[in-house]
Amino acid sequence: MSAPHEVGPLPDADTVLDLTSTQYEAELTYFIEHRIHHAPRSLQKALGPSEIGIECARRLAYKIAGTPEVHEGDGWLATIGTATHAWLADTFTAANTMLGQERFLLEQRVQIGSYAGEPVVGSTDLYDRVTRRVVDFKILGKTTLTSLRRKGPSTQYRTQGHAYGRGWAAAGHPVEKVAVWGLPRNSALADSHLWEEPYDETVAVAALDRLDGIATLVSSLGPAAAAVVPTADSYCSYCPWYRHGATVLTESCPGHPGSRVNTGRPSSVESLIA
Ligand code: SF4
Repeated sequence: MSAPHEVGPLPDADTVLDLTSTQYEAELTYFIEHRIHHAPRSLQKALGPSEIGIECARRLAYKIAGTPEVHEGDGWLATIGTATHAWLADTFTAANTMLGQERFLLEQRVQIGSYAGEPVVGSTDLYDRVTRRVVDFKILGKTTLTSLRRKGPSTQYRTQGHAYGRGWAAAGHPVEKVAVWGLPRNSALADSHLWEEPYDETVAVAALDRLDGIATLVSSLGPAAAAVVPTADSYCSYCPWYRHGATVLTESCPGHPGSRVNTGRPSSVESLIA
């Protein structure tokens, strides 16, 4: 443990700020929320690899049409995910040093392909040059981790894995398998689960073809395209275009029929954590 370092004087050193625990918690929370909400945001309008496999075509149509989002989450779970990803990148960089070889390539940007002339580019978590695996880290709550173990990943996660595989392959790195490594957010590391399957380029290509179709519809109908494409429960309550009771579908969505938001069942938020 390091010794306390020299600190400069406070502007009003004789005054103690007298706060209740509630006020103090609000004060500390303010700094967290300020940082989350003032973090540099991607101005990229094109969809990224984590989005191209979203099952709900309406959500994709909103994004492609540039329809303004109607709400944003508080960003805390996404922040946990981002912070953990940064720690994992450090950890596998240290592993390279330990091994004396650059086995793991981390956080590198690859181009997956394109739809409607828009490149799909994203940063991948890990490529293992020794086993020729592409690994996507997911920091998951219990429900989604259990689902990953029992049923495999969602279409969105699986597509993302193959999309990164395509990106690495295009960059000249052979890919044998793609993996989604679910790491527990709320329990011991032993609860993690790694799902994998042989790399299949057609998964990513099919997703890009689907986006081409949605983009074509958006270019002919504009925001009205969102009202005519099919929906799916892509974590509706955390969808940026979800609005309870929405009726103007060109602007916002009341949720997929039978989804958690429409049945009162608790929702899950794993899709927020890249
Ligand atoms: S709220 Fe649900 S159904 Fe509506 S666009 Fe979003 S994910 Fe799709």
